[in-house]
Amino acid sequence: PVDVQQVAVDFGRGPVLAGLDLHVPSGAVHAVLGPSGCGKSTLLRVLAGLTRPSSGTARLGGSDVVEGDERVAVVFQQPRLLPWLDLRANIALGATRRRRHDPSAGSRAEVDELLARVGLDGYGDYRPAAVSGGMAQRTALARALLARPGVLLLDEPFAALDALTRLNMQALVDELVHADGTTVVLVTHDVDEAVRLADDITVLGAAGSGTATAVPVPLGRPRDTTDPAHLAAAA
Ligand code: ATP
Ligand code: MG
Repeated sequence: PVDVQQVAVDFGRGPVLAGLDLHVPSGAVHAVLGPSGCGKSTLLRVLAGLTRPSSGTARLGGSDVVEGDERVAVVFQQPRLLPWLDLRANIALGATRRRRHDPSAGSRAEVDELLARVGLDGYGDYRPAAVSGGMAQRTALARALLARPGVLLLDEPFAALDALTRLNMQALVDELVHADGTTVVLVTHDVDEAVRLADDITVLGAAGSGTATAVPVPLGRPRDTTDPAHLAAAA
């Protein structure tokens, strides 16, 4: 689970986050909505151990987030691929940590399967500069999935995609989360997307206000009541 308690972040120009609480049970999808500049990416950076909170605690599975925490994988707003590597090699980077225990992790077959899952069959040997922004973003998603993280952090990952690809990607994330029990924090501007994918929603207030409201999802997908994570969340 993700457990954020009273997290404050201040870069020196007033609070970006001020006393934020966020709890995401294992296997749940939590959407974070809010206006531009309100601190959504900052929250994800705290959860990834890339930004240290000024105060408060961010914990994963009961222990504090550490710098560059290996339990999480992030898909950033910009895909951040290595331009000199082809898509297949970029995706394979996601298996770096797994390869320490499992030398076959990130095999060509595994990477090719992921390429197909994100709709990039046949593009494995393209360089990032030779594909569209949406395709680069799907590559970044595949790289994150290859890491098989306990917690997947998605920062508006579908914003640049066309409507049909976005629907496919949303379905893919939904399916993966249910298959693997991955816990997801999804930052999005799209209320429909939040409602479609999330079990719970947090709305951050206007930039600098540091306020957040947890919103129960009125029309979310039916929860799988046989899933112990959701039973625990409901208890
Ligand atoms: P958007 O929806 O536009 O992506 P956001 O909610 O993700 O916005 P953040 O990127 O978290 O917003 O930024 C929140 C605020 O924190 C902004 O005012 C930004 O200028 C500030 N900020 C973020 N990172 C830093 C940093 N490293 N140093 C100084 N200020 C920062
Ligand atoms: Mg952002």
